Amino acid sequence: MSDAETLFERIIAGEIPSEKVYEDETTYAFRDIAPQARVHVLVVPKKRYRNLAELAAGDPRLLADVASTARKVAEIEGIAESGYRVVFNTDGDAGQTVFHVHAHVLGGEQLGHFGR
Ligand code: IMP
Repeated sequence: MSDAETLFERIIAGEIPSEKVYEDETTYAFRDIAPQARVHVLVVPKKRYRNLAELAAGDPRLLADVASTARKVAEIEGIAESGYRVVFNTDGDAGQTVFHVHAHVLGGEQLGHFGR
C-alpha cells in the first residue's frame, strides 16, 4: 500500500466536502457523488486498509464496525425493512477505484441483479 493519502482520508479529515450520513469513532459514512441507486452511501473505516481482504485480516473488529455502520445507514435512510445491498469492490476486475476500503450501501428501489 502506498503512503499517499487517498481521497477518502481527505474526505474524513474534512479537507474535501462530503454529505455525511453518519459518523462514529471508527467509521464515516457519506453519500456517493455518482449515485447508482436512490440511496447510495459509502461506509469507510477511518483507519485505512487497501481492501476488504486486508481489513478482514488486519482488524476484524473494525470490519464488524463497518458492517454495523452499514446497518445504521440503512436505518437512517429508511431502507432497513425494504432491503438493501452492501458491496465491497475489490481490486481490478471489480473496478475498485479508491484504495481505501469502503462498503457501498445501495437501495431505496428495486435493484437489478448484479454480475456482468
Ligand atoms: P469504488 O469504485 O468501489 O472504488 O468506489 C469509489 C466510489 O467513490 C465511486 O462510487 C465514486 O462515485 C465515489 N466517489 C469518488 N469521489 C467521490 C467524492 O468526492 N465524494 C463522494 N463519492 C466519491
